[in-house]
Amino acid sequence: GKIPPFENHPFVDFTKKFERDAFPRAIKEVREQLGKTYPLIINGEEVLTEDKLTSVNPANPDEVIGHICQASVKEIDQAISAARDAFPAWRDLSPEERAKYLFKAADYARKNIYHLSAWQILEVGKQWDQAHADVSEAIDFLEYYAREMIRLGNPRKMGRAPGELNHLFYQPKGIAAVIAPWNFPLAISCGMTSAALVAGNCVLYKPAGTSAVVGYTLAKIYEAAGIPKGVFNYVPGRGSVIGDYLVEHPDISLIAFTGSMEVGLRIIEKAAKVQTGQEQVKKVIAEMGGKNAIIIDDDADLDEAIIHIIYSAFGFQGQKCSACSRVIVLESIYDRFVKRLVAAAKSIAIGPAEDPHYYMGPVIDANAQKKISEYVELAKKEGNILLIRDDIPEKGYYVPLTIVENITPEHRLAQEEIFGPVLAIMKVKNLDQAIEWANSTRFALTGGIFSRSPRHLERARKEFRVGNLYLNRGITGALVERQPFGGFKMSGVGSKAGGPDYLLQFMDPRCVTENT
Ligand code: GLU
Repeated sequence: GKIPPFENHPFVDFTKKFERDAFPRAIKEVREQLGKTYPLIINGEEVLTEDKLTSVNPANPDEVIGHICQASVKEIDQAISAARDAFPAWRDLSPEERAKYLFKAADYARKNIYHLSAWQILEVGKQWDQAHADVSEAIDFLEYYAREMIRLGNPRKMGRAPGELNHLFYQPKGIAAVIAPWNFPLAISCGMTSAALVAGNCVLYKPAGTSAVVGYTLAKIYEAAGIPKGVFNYVPGRGSVIGDYLVEHPDISLIAFTGSMEVGLRIIEKAAKVQTGQEQVKKVIAEMGGKNAIIIDDDADLDEAIIHIIYSAFGFQGQKCSACSRVIVLESIYDRFVKRLVAAAKSIAIGPAEDPHYYMGPVIDANAQKKISEYVELAKKEGNILLIRDDIPEKGYYVPLTIVENITPEHRLAQEEIFGPVLAIMKVKNLDQAIEWANSTRFALTGGIFSRSPRHLERARKEFRVGNLYLNRGITGALVERQPFGGFKMSGVGSKAGGPDYLLQFMDPRCVTENT
């Protein structure tokens, strides 16, 4: 039948009793399944390994989510050989046929949205609404990229010269390694893998260690959609054991990565070196960090600004690459703004994500907790602390929500991605200085400004150079199709996820000319 136009999956609506009740029920049911051992899935078959990694609930590390088998280079070789065998048939399906698998996957995810959310609530500490938004985004990627592939699948006639017929079309690159982050454990995993798949590539998917059970739910989604064996392989493993091997393997043509700048740059470097037997130049798509700022103009609507900054900075504990980690405030509104921001931050309830009473939860693991705590110590040295919320649960990977002022561009607090609930406030004289400071990092991912002046908004539009700029709203929560997402400078290479250029990166263009 005819495919209806793309629409974003609706937000959760807690005014509906049905939705309110669905979460505790799903959490309870998922909890009954905790502690299992998860195999790799290679060529459609479960593969057990000796080495296992244990994933825990960050709000209560005694609660084991699952034990996940870890691939060694042997299993990577098996998966690559399965992908190689599956590739020709998958490549030669029509774009419409491949798109059908994504539509089926989306159907399955829609039907299971509460359970898929519950896994995230327990494994990574996402709040109900944010877990729901993550699954919704996964559904959106499936629905959007399926349509995009159908659009791009039609060979395009080029030129109008008489006596010749030119057609431009695309073919997949081959075998893709997808290396995914834990912070949008289903959405980003699903986005990168579904783009690779629908474009006709076969995939080795390596989820992050701390969200590998959510990663397994993605494998189940594709299994339910009937994706042929070998086309999608679930290969969790330790970065130190299989990371470089995967990236350097001569049969991997494409690497789609989302994560830290350090790891991203390492992948780019390793992928550039041509290995024996390698037949094509590796393509790397890398979504990396941010040090995102929101500017508060002197006429900003503070009622609006405060709510949005709190959510952008502390939603999901600041663990989004889009999160606000700097607020740049004009002098004349500074005192009023800071007073209200601190008052709002004092009222934030901190506790486990599974209880909707809490706005902010634990960070992902002990390493993150340690690293963020070091930045809190640094904040005390570099600036003037406005708030440290150390009234946090003792058990679990909690860190104090921290707001620090008197930060200037020279400070590490103004330059380094912290990936936690630590917010730096920077005071400036005027909009010129605000824009200059906003642009004064290596990153260029998201940014925002609150202002009532059309002239100032216009200036920000032109001069505040980031991948996703938001005027008078928060800077997280980009939606598929409406806000194609991604940055430049050290924030990454590759075109925007959820946008019209994304799939092109997973394919090579060909042009055929016929003399008629
Ligand atoms: N797309 C997400 C947002 O707009 C951020 C993704 C990320 O953290 O990698 O909030």
